[in-house]
Amino acid sequence: MIHKFDAVILGAGAAGLMCAIEAGKRGRRVAVLERANRAGKKILISGGGRCNFTNLHCRPEHFYSANPHFAKSALARYEPSDFIALVEKYHIAYHEKTLGQLFCDRSAQDIVEMLETESRAAGVQIVLNSEIHEIRRADGFIVGTESGDFHAPVLVVATGGLSIPKLGATSLGYDIARQFGMEIRETKPALVPLVLNETDRKQYCDLAGVSAEVEVSTNGSSFREKLLITHRGLSGPAILQISTHWRGQSSIRIDLAPGRDATFVVRNAKERNTTAARSALQEFLPKRLATRWLDLHAPKAWTNRALEELERAVHEWVVEPAGTEGYEKAEVTVGGVDTDELSSKTMESRNLAGLFFIGEVVDVTGHLGGFNFQWAWASGAAAGRAL
Ligand SMILES: Cc1cc2nc3c(=O)[nH]c(=O)nc-3n(C[C@H](O)[C@H](O)[C@H](O)COP(=O)(O)OP(=O)(O)OC[C@H]3O[C@@H](n4cnc5c(N)ncnc54)[C@H](O)[C@@H]3O)c2cc1C
Repeated sequence: MIHKFDAVILGAGAAGLMCAIEAGKRGRRVAVLERANRAGKKILISGGGRCNFTNLHCRPEHFYSANPHFAKSALARYEPSDFIALVEKYHIAYHEKTLGQLFCDRSAQDIVEMLETESRAAGVQIVLNSEIHEIRRADGFIVGTESGDFHAPVLVVATGGLSIPKLGATSLGYDIARQFGMEIRETKPALVPLVLNETDRKQYCDLAGVSAEVEVSTNGSSFREKLLITHRGLSGPAILQISTHWRGQSSIRIDLAPGRDATFVVRNAKERNTTAARSALQEFLPKRLATRWLDLHAPKAWTNRALEELERAVHEWVVEPAGTEGYEKAEVTVGGVDTDELSSKTMESRNLAGLFFIGEVVDVTGHLGGFNFQWAWASGAAAGRAL
């Protein structure tokens, strides 16, 4: 059985749905083929279930790509205000949590329902539980599935990255790119918790759940946000951000007291001792972390010189992670379809007319904080308007 459409989109995630809505609104007959049993599963778990759907301060500098200019055009033509207008049209309550990050007040489900309603209104057909067997070229594209062949002059690949395989992530998007001779930039998990080496794990991981505001740096990049100790290592926004820059084997520097004179209180205490040092550290660290850290970095004496050394150590706690938690826990995948292969205006392949790639499958990755969804909306809209 052959189903004929103007466009077939693979993946009913953030980018695929946005693309389908934009194309449907322009009168295109669109089918979205989704492997999972419901659309937008990753949106549902995003932002701790509240979906950090965009960022007010979104700029091209918030994205990594081999070509840092590639994302500019799409981001300029679909801005955070465009998505906010859609959210407000559906009376979805939201708030700014921090640093321009917008979250739903209630649930990420509001965003998925909004996208589903928009899709229906635009006449989009979403086909769930679709196992895709093959892609063939024949006067356009034929997508072979268990429920028959889908034929269209246009094929949009919106299958996302490799993170969270249990939610349905597959390598299909990269496989299709390879099938048509396109280059892929090396992929790796990003925005991912780090696993500490065995020594550090023994020393800190019983403090799982403890968090602190820190500045972390590696390979010339740094982020000032929260760090969270986990059962196997470190997480929290600061660590997720720096994980994208961390290359195995390198160390990460953690400033436990950014911008503070950490030992001021001890230096000026009537009696310089461990109690004074602990209460100094507790000004900026939770009690359990302050105590543990001091136990492990106790000054040998209470001289000015020893306190200078303590001050330096507080600002430069060096950890050498054993690895990352991998795609199982990564929020995103860096790398992907090489942007040199695509038009930055439409996301269409430069060499194969009718083939588009959008969202996370493309070599464009955002910082933590709503930027990845903004890329999915913007690249989806760019392609949807070009179909
Ligand atoms: C835990 C977690 C929390 C996150 N929180 C945020 C956040 O708050 N803010 C933010 O900006 N970003 C967040 N992200 C990142 C964000 O979810 C992604 O960047 C975004 O969803 C990418 O959109 P996409 O449409 O490209 O891919 P996806 O949303 O992943 O959609 C791809 C779709 O393709 C389908 N698919 C895959 N393979 C096949 C196949 N073979 N056949 C058919 N269908 C297939 C998948 O099932 C999926 O529905 C989070 C990610 C995770 C994992």
